Amino acid sequence: MPYFNEEHHLFRESLSRFVEKEVLPCGKAWEKAGKLPASIWKKMGDQGYLGLIHEEAYGGLNADLFYSVIFLEELAKSTFGGFAGAVAVQEYMATAHLAKTGSAFLKDKYLRPAIEGLQVAALAISEPGAGSNVAAMKTFARKKGSQYLLSGSKIFITNGFHADYITVAARTSEEKGTKGISLFVVEGNSAGLSRNKLEKMGWHSSDTAELFFDEVKIPQENLIGEAGQGFYYIMDSFQLERLAIGILASAASEKMLELSLDYMNERNVFGGPLHEIQVLRHQIARLSAEVSSLKQFIYHTAWLFGQKTNIVKECAMIKLKASELSKQVADFCLQSFGGYGYMRDYPIERMFRDARVNTIIGGTSEIMHEIIAKCVIDKKQYRSAYA
Ligand SMILES: Cc1cc2nc3c(=O)[nH]c(=O)nc-3n(C[C@H](O)[C@H](O)[C@H](O)COP(=O)(O)OP(=O)(O)OC[C@H]3O[C@@H](n4cnc5c(N)ncnc54)[C@H](O)[C@@H]3O)c2cc1C
Repeated sequence: MPYFNEEHHLFRESLSRFVEKEVLPCGKAWEKAGKLPASIWKKMGDQGYLGLIHEEAYGGLNADLFYSVIFLEELAKSTFGGFAGAVAVQEYMATAHLAKTGSAFLKDKYLRPAIEGLQVAALAISEPGAGSNVAAMKTFARKKGSQYLLSGSKIFITNGFHADYITVAARTSEEKGTKGISLFVVEGNSAGLSRNKLEKMGWHSSDTAELFFDEVKIPQENLIGEAGQGFYYIMDSFQLERLAIGILASAASEKMLELSLDYMNERNVFGGPLHEIQVLRHQIARLSAEVSSLKQFIYHTAWLFGQKTNIVKECAMIKLKASELSKQVADFCLQSFGGYGYMRDYPIERMFRDARVNTIIGGTSEIMHEIIAKCVIDKKQYRSAYA
């Protein structure tokens, strides 16, 4: 494989041993608790897993993106989508803005402890009236002296209930639409911040919250990057976010097919194993072909990412294909288990529920179609916020 060298393979082996020892025995308890314990963050931090892409100056490893590809694949193969999602949000979404454009002060105060696994981070962009349409957000941060006063609300925030800090997007001027949005670090214990944990269909080991801000005081040094540039920073970071979600969805699909095939080898019906039934064989063949080709597209795009190429179209395509495919794979694989697939004891039941969110988070499939159409039909060129 041109993308992975010997060190990447060794990394995958030790990571997979870590998942086997530290995640698999505990995953069900985390699902029940509806959250991850502080200890797993710390263990991951100690291994350097939470700083793979981050700067060495703040405790990161500054490793090439293929380490992150391996990391996300192995997280997804744990079969606990909520765990994988929470960790991916911490490393590739909630700390991404701090890492890219935060001041040295902010990186030292907030990025470092997240890399060490001592603090959990969340990213709060979506609002009750602004999901797909980020530019419709209303949460407002009013400048008063040396601080901002934040008021408004956010919804569906991963890690939001327990996060030690939250990267929050808010308007800082009366300008409308994409203009006048800024990003801030807001501490989880700030006065005026209240949080409500949401009940959801899958991803049970990750907490998802609704956040309410009532004149929350934010020191002005907690502004990330330049005031008014938030929308462009958010759009820019969507590429890594969508690639990460695509990797999680694609690896989960691979794992579901593996579980299904194992079951089809051992389950006998009408005098023979399930894997001898042609209609099932063809489904496995079709879905395996789809997953394998998607995987190569993901690796190619990860390589392009490393070349600093503009990959808006590729990331939207990956997000769309991987998330839609994971729904199809989950459906077939659950079906192949018959009644057992519907039972809580079987990982496929959880993976089926977890897969459903893939077409919603990080931009829905409909929005991915919109972006791809703009690139392919209108030849739209997206410029990086950092160009
Ligand atoms: C488990 C979970 C975790 C999440 N984590 C986070 C997080 O950590 N941080 C965060 O900020 N957000 C998070 N989200 C929010 C997520 O990003 C939004 O739910 C998503 O962007 C869709 O927004 P919405 O729910 O408001 O749907 P809406 O925007 O209201 O869309 C409703 C439906 O209309 C369709 N639609 C909307 N506009 C168009 C259009 N122009 N053309 C065609 N169809 C359209 C959508 O595709 C969708 O099917 C999370 C959501 C979930 C479920």
